[in-house]
Amino acid sequence: MSAYKPLQGKLAIVTGASRGIGAAIAEKLASYGANIVLNYTSESSAQKTEDLAKRLQEKYGTSSIIVRADMGDPSVGDTIIASIKSSPLYSTSTAPLVVDIIINNAGISKNTKLQDITPELFKQHYDINVLGPLMLVKAAMPYLPHDGSGRIVSLSSVSASLGLPGQAVYGGTKAALEAVTRTWARELSDRCTATCVNPGPVVTDMYGGTSEEFKEVMRPFIEHAPLMNAGGAQGRGATPEEIAGCVGLLCLPDSYWCTGSVVSCNGGMIMGT
Ligand code: NAP
Repeated sequence: MSAYKPLQGKLAIVTGASRGIGAAIAEKLASYGANIVLNYTSESSAQKTEDLAKRLQEKYGTSSIIVRADMGDPSVGDTIIASIKSSPLYSTSTAPLVVDIIINNAGISKNTKLQDITPELFKQHYDINVLGPLMLVKAAMPYLPHDGSGRIVSLSSVSASLGLPGQAVYGGTKAALEAVTRTWARELSDRCTATCVNPGPVVTDMYGGTSEEFKEVMRPFIEHAPLMNAGGAQGRGATPEEIAGCVGLLCLPDSYWCTGSVVSCNGGMIMGT
C-alpha cells in the first residue's frame, strides 16, 4: 500500500466507474486515499463494480459508495447525492457532507455519418455526455468545499477539435463539455477548479467498438503522435491508467493554479491546448 496519500479522507464521485477509463481513475484516486462514489448504469456491470469496490478496500483501505444511475436521466445528480447521504459512510455522520472531487467520465460514442444522424441519437449523446455532468455538478454544488480545494475534471476528447468523420454529434458533446468547464471555472472559482482532459484513442470497450474504417482514419494520427510511437511502438492507443495518471494530477492540491483549461492528455496527438 502506497504511503503517498495526498487525497486522504476526501470524497470523489467518478461517473462511469465500472470499467475502462473510469475504473482506472477510481483506482488512482483511491490509491491517493480518497473514498470513491462509483457510478455506472448497466446491469451487466453490477458485479464488476462490486469487485472494484472490494479491490479498492483491500488494496488501499478506502470506502466506496456504489450508485447505479443513468447519467442521461435529468434527476441523476439528485439521485447520486441522495445515495451518498443515505450510505453507511454518511447516514450516521454528524459532519457536513463535502464533495471534494467530481470526475465527469461516463460517456457514450456512437459514430454516425451525417446521413444517419437522428434527433434521438443527438438527444441521447447530449443527455449523457453534457446534461448529466451539468445536473450532477448542480446537485453537488451545495456540498463543494468553500476553500477552493474542490476539483472537477471532465473527460473530453481529441474529437472536440479534430473534426473526425462520424463524430459530428459525439465531438459536439465534447466541445460543449469544454465550454461548460470554462464557465464552471468562473462560476465556481471560490469552490473548485474545473478542467478537462482530452484523450485520443484509449484501449477500452469504447474504442474497441469503433469500425475498421474509423481506426484507419486514426492510424496516421497515432503513428505520428510523439508518445504513441515512442520506443518503436509504431502507434498505439493509451492505456486507461495513462489517462487516470493525468486526471489524478489535476486532483492534487498542487494543481490549484490550473483551471478552465483543456489539459492535453493524448500522447502528443494534439499540442497546444
Ligand atoms: P467505456 O469503456 O465505453 O466505458 C464507459 C463507462 O461509462 C462505463 O462505466 C459505463 O457504465 C459508463 N456509462 C455509459 N453510459 C452511462 C450512463 N448513461 N450512465 C452512467 N454511466 C454510463 O468508455 P471509456 O473508453 O472508458 O470512456 C470514458 C470517457 O472517456 C468517455 O467520456 C469517453 O467519451 C472519453 N474518451 C474515451 C476515449 C477512448 O478512446 N476510449 C477517447 C477520448 C475520450 P456501464 O458499465 O454501466 O455501461
